[in-house]
Amino acid sequence: MSPAYQPTPRTTPSRYRERAHYDRETVHRILDEALFCHLGYVRDGGPVVLPTMHVRCGETVYIHGSTGSGPMLGAKPAGLPVCVTATVVDGLVLARSAMHHSLNYRSVVVMGSARVVDDDAEKLPALQALLDHIRPGRAADCRTPNTRELAAAAVLALELVEVSAKVRHGGPVDDPEDRALPHWAGVIPLTVTAGTPQPADDLDPATPLPDYLTAARRP
Ligand SMILES: Cc1cc2nc3c(=O)[nH]c(=O)nc-3n(C[C@H](O)[C@H](O)[C@H](O)COP(=O)(O)OP(=O)(O)OC[C@H]3O[C@@H](n4cnc5c(N)ncnc54)[C@H](O)[C@@H]3O)c2cc1C
Repeated sequence: MSPAYQPTPRTTPSRYRERAHYDRETVHRILDEALFCHLGYVRDGGPVVLPTMHVRCGETVYIHGSTGSGPMLGAKPAGLPVCVTATVVDGLVLARSAMHHSLNYRSVVVMGSARVVDDDAEKLPALQALLDHIRPGRAADCRTPNTRELAAAAVLALELVEVSAKVRHGGPVDDPEDRALPHWAGVIPLTVTAGTPQPADDLDPATPLPDYLTAARRP
């Protein structure tokens, strides 16, 4: 397998092309770190973009939904044309001039035709992977879905073929004539961290907190 995805006209940014990446390692790392994605598709002739959970398994991205939701109802046997975006924000970029403020980020855009996963032999592992994407170890530490729950859950699968990543890092880029201005400039790093676990109101107080839930940062 090639170490990189093949750029296409629609996965090539018009601006800041040097920030675009197509290597699988960069793409995989962003998809694995992003907690959720945005799923874009056309419903009743207009665009809809919905946040939802995803997980990457090899070269397939699984996207979670419910059988009554728009993307699943709109999906045809031939597949549903979609655009999926996953983003990690790494910092606030504060410049001396208003127009050079920015964000440091890593993002992935995947385009293609998503298929509905209707075989339980694929759906159940995909749902378990979705749980482990939220918190590694969780899928083995909860009740498995029953037949009714499995039927109500919907999963879309999208192959990683037409893919781009874009990465911005580093400090603000002010115009030379602005560098002597008295405004603070620099980067405020951002990370997603898990807070202290809060037990459910109805949790048996004797239930121990598992080790895998105590790490502060999402891996
Ligand atoms: C958190 C965040 C905040 C941003 N804020 C701004 C902002 O305020 N203003 C702004 O102009 N831009 C912002 N961007 C960048 C924005 O996503 C576009 O990359 C940018 O607008 C340039 O678009 P373009 O016209 O070159 O892309 P287009 O030419 O429209 O894109 C062509 C193709 O390039 C690829 N591509 C473009 N952007 C991305 C991306 N971000 N990630 C992966 N693939 C991509 C896609 O495959 C896309 O189909 C932000 C990005 C992120 C992740």
